[in-house]
Amino acid sequence: MTVSWNTRVLHTKSPFGIARWTHSEYPRTFVHFEHGGVTGRGEAAPNAFYGENRATVEAALPPLSAHLHDPWDWEALEAALSRTFPHGHPSVKCALEMAALEACALEAGLPVWKLLGLSSKAVPESSYTISIAELPEMERQAREATAQGYRILKVKLGTDRDVPILETLRAAAPQATLRVDANAAWTRSQAKRMLAVLEACGVELLEQPLPAADLEGHAELRRVSPLPLVADESLHDRSTVPALARAFDAVNLKIAKLGGPLQALHTARTARALGMNVMIGCMIESSLGISASVHLAGLADWVDLDGALLLADDPYEGLEWQGGQVTRPTQAGWGVRERA
Ligand SMILES: [Mg+2]
Repeated sequence: MTVSWNTRVLHTKSPFGIARWTHSEYPRTFVHFEHGGVTGRGEAAPNAFYGENRATVEAALPPLSAHLHDPWDWEALEAALSRTFPHGHPSVKCALEMAALEACALEAGLPVWKLLGLSSKAVPESSYTISIAELPEMERQAREATAQGYRILKVKLGTDRDVPILETLRAAAPQATLRVDANAAWTRSQAKRMLAVLEACGVELLEQPLPAADLEGHAELRRVSPLPLVADESLHDRSTVPALARAFDAVNLKIAKLGGPLQALHTARTARALGMNVMIGCMIESSLGISASVHLAGLADWVDLDGALLLADDPYEGLEWQGGQVTRPTQAGWGVRERA
């Protein structure tokens, strides 16, 4: 039984911009867990917003990976990981949970979603992200995405030119379903003003308009919003869901920030019990990390799993996409393989 890992810097096809930053390089750490003749794999996709980067991932792996020995005892693994670091390092916990789950699934000869008894119904169609850039470039991205068969576009906002961006993209992709993600960049008054623009442009939902801690502002906005509000930056782990239920209609679950696929499942069930809808989202991740979310995606109302589609050098392959429609893998484990 051994656990090993290696970090690779992945690159997006074009610079990926949101309200807080623009990057092209994404260090991702891949975990391999050999156990009983099979190898379970996981991916750590750290995000600075949740206090992680390449260095924190590589520093947390030795103490956390020491708890990965019995892949079948998920409760013990979760307890040991949170005892070691009660807070933080969610992408590392995610990579280890992924590796344990795949080791079990390979031993059982099942895809992970079957091992977990999850829905086999078709995965909802994913959105494709138009990241923040100069307006002509955003317009070009929207036209190209539509031509490639993406029917749902997620528009990143939080600039000083949000209204022209939205109106231009609406005109460039008149048939597309539009979703907006402000990445916590708006003020309360700005968000209220934007609601009318979003409604006029036929936007389907609004993700994280206000700063993460401003639950009161979100609750106030929700009372007047014609569109559902989805929590992303405001959701850090499953314990925060009850506090969000008054302020948001839905939660955006990302395995890398929640600590793994099982944590995302717990979070989804908590959200459902509180009457909330569920989106499954992602970081910029390889097809390995994305695949883990695809296995869960039958339980989602909305899916945003384009992270690997934005990469120029995805080290994994095997997910089948038709535009924004991905097929749930049927092979044992995560159902992706390393590119030759
Ligand atoms: Mg978001």
